[in-house]
Amino acid sequence: MPRLVMKFGGTSVADLEHIKNAASKVKREVENGFEVIVIVSAMSGKTNELIAWVDETSAMVDAREYDAIVSSGENVTAGLMALSLQEMGVPARSWQGWQVPLKTTSAHGAARIEEIPSENLDAKFRQGMQVAVVAGFQGIGADGRITTLGRGGSDTTAVAFAAAMKAERCDIYTDVDGVYTTDPRIEKNARKLDKISYEEMLELASLGAKVLQTRSVELAMRFKVRLRVLSSFETATDNSGTLVCDEEEIMENNVVSGVTYSRDEAKMTLVSVADRPGIAAAIFMALAEAGVNVDMIVQNISEEGRTDMTFSCPTDHVARAQAAVDTAKSSGDINFHGLIADMDVCKISVVGIGMRSHAGVAAKMFEVLSREGVNIKIITTSEIKVSVLVDRKYMELSVQALHDAFELGKTT
Ligand code: ADP
Ligand code: ASP
Ligand code: MG
Repeated sequence: MPRLVMKFGGTSVADLEHIKNAASKVKREVENGFEVIVIVSAMSGKTNELIAWVDETSAMVDAREYDAIVSSGENVTAGLMALSLQEMGVPARSWQGWQVPLKTTSAHGAARIEEIPSENLDAKFRQGMQVAVVAGFQGIGADGRITTLGRGGSDTTAVAFAAAMKAERCDIYTDVDGVYTTDPRIEKNARKLDKISYEEMLELASLGAKVLQTRSVELAMRFKVRLRVLSSFETATDNSGTLVCDEEEIMENNVVSGVTYSRDEAKMTLVSVADRPGIAAAIFMALAEAGVNVDMIVQNISEEGRTDMTFSCPTDHVARAQAAVDTAKSSGDINFHGLIADMDVCKISVVGIGMRSHAGVAAKMFEVLSREGVNIKIITTSEIKVSVLVDRKYMELSVQALHDAFELGKTT
């Protein structure tokens, strides 16, 4: 029998009514002849609540206990979804990550999926189970304990199951009806895309568009999973939502496909470091060892053998970064006069495959921002994106101005 993965995010399982609504969508696909693997998130707000409880209880959190607690939200929705389906006459069973088992690394809080043996689910499907409801976001580590896959990780659970169980498609049901040219909550003229390439979606996700977790797009690209994003509040048709697929399948090709933002960025400046070979290596080695996710880097003009080194990292890595450079300073590996952390910045990016063959996107982006009086603090580019770091107060304005200037609201 053909298989389908259907993933429901937090707002799609927010309460019992929503769970019933999602269950009826699953039932329809069973009636269409699919064996269905349903991946559920925790009810919206639940994971945040659990994380707040953890933080309130312990300052130096034991990551294994964090995972034990934070993964529990998905267990509740998996059971409720299986019960709702049973009430509708559909043979369904819930599965926690360890029961499948979904095997991961032991990097608690940010584990990576290693393997999903399909035997257990296959056997139950053969015995008449029509729907396996799997708790998203969680697995079992090599250390035998529960792990979680990082925020938004249920998307990755869904794609990994689609690959492991050879599903025809992976449908991600959420609170928007597809992937838009930018976050529709910020820009009212944002336009839904019918299709987007894996590469562009990967950039959009990693640069802040939280509609899909970055890792889920990576997996979809690697295993050629047909991935669709659609609304759980509308009746789906064959053409609903946005299909994430190979570039070759897309006819319409804008130079820029989307604008995205990441709110939680910090700009860190190491003031007056020695300007000589080996210093950058020493700084960024220390930061890497401390697990700081460094993104953009600039080294300022050197004066009398000394320079300032600026980099960006997520705001919740700032304390770690400070501790790492302080330790490197006291052990004599590096020397600097001070560290300035600017937490009021954000990253704005424009993404598009067309940039490979069209010059001028960066120039136009800078011109638009300067017209709006937005000062650019750091710039990075790659083949299909340009990112800038700007003051957070200009975040909405920058997104809207760029969306407008690149005419993303218009169909081509
Ligand atoms: P879920 O709980 O279903 O996983 P998320 O909140 O994680 O849903 O992701 C959906 C949200 O992603 C939307 O409500 C929207 O605000 C946001 N979003 C950001 N960028 C985009 C984009 N380019 N297209 C669509 N949604 C986006
Ligand atoms: N519940 C988890 C989170 O909020 C995982 C997910 O919803 O994808 O991050
Ligand atoms: Mg999500």
